[in-house]
Order: sequence, then C-alpha cells, then structure tokens
Amino acid sequence: MWSRQPASGRRGLRPGDVRRPPQARDTDGCPPARSVVDYALARRATLADLFAGRVTTTDVCDAHPYLLRAAKFHGESTERDCPVCRRERLTQVIYTYGDCFRAETNGRVRASIELARLAREYPEFTVYVVEVCRGCGWNHLTSSYVLGTGSNPGRLTGSVGKKTVPADRRRAPGGPS
Ligand SMILES: [Zn+2]
Repeated sequence: MWSRQPASGRRGLRPGDVRRPPQARDTDGCPPARSVVDYALARRATLADLFAGRVTTTDVCDAHPYLLRAAKFHGESTERDCPVCRRERLTQVIYTYGDCFRAETNGRVRASIELARLAREYPEFTVYVVEVCRGCGWNHLTSSYVLGTGSNPGRLTGSVGKKTVPADRRRAPGGPS
C-alpha cells in the first residue's frame, strides 16, 4: 500500500482526515508541524474492508521489501499491535521528502529524534509516517506533515554541517593519560 513515492496514490482525502497536529512537535524550539494529515480514517476504512471480506490480506499486507528492510534497520518499535495478525508490534518508519534535501538524502528514513533538528535547519520538508508489521506485511500511512523553518527555500544560506568542538575535549588538564 505504501510506496516510496507518496505523490502516487493516497489522494482523495475526506474532510475528516485532517486533524490536529501531532503532539510534542514544537519542543526544543522546533517549528510546529504544518499541513498535518491524519490517515486514521483511511486506515480504519481499509481494515473495515478487510474484515468485511471486500479485500484480502494479500491486498493490504503487501509491504514492499524496501519498506520491510527500512523497518528492520531504521524503524522504531511502537506499543501498538498489528491490527491484522495481532501477533507483532507495529514498527514506525519515518520518511522525509523535500526539495531542500540533496538528491541522495531526499526520501531518507529518519529517526523521530532527528526531526526537531532538521526542522530548525531546513526551510520545508514533508514527513510521512508509515506503520509496518514485520510479521505479516501490513503497512499503512498514518500521518504526514510539513516541517521546517518556513523560510524561503531559495535563500538557504551556508552549509548545514557546522564544525563543533567535541565534548570530550573538555577534560581537566593534568589528569592521568
Ligand atoms: Zn501483522
């Protein structure tokens, strides 16, 4: 269901799909999330279709090998059980897309802890949160939102990689080597 190209499919949202922004996105000086879309209703509809027999598990448990790989190596475990097999906990995979990223980092999977930093550094990018069951292959987009400083993307100045002094150089002089 989820493909790495969010532009294809996943259209036709109903009005109720748009909800409040995710909580705690504005901590650490992180600009608040914009254009938040919660896909809970679409998810519920898919599951209702499954349980009513209108679609099969083959239709909905179709996680792409890349997504399963991303879930295995970069995903974050959740406390939520898989709604289909009910044997596994769901894994969350966060993709970030934006013109502000270099081609090789556009579409990269990120840890949720990275998002606040990215939001302070980059003008605008879209976050897609996908839940995956590594057991049965269930996968669904759960939310998407826009993060970033909101400044004009064309005026991004300077390089992102700032030189910092390693913290371990603050050792007291004269100590044992
Ligand atoms: Zn499952």
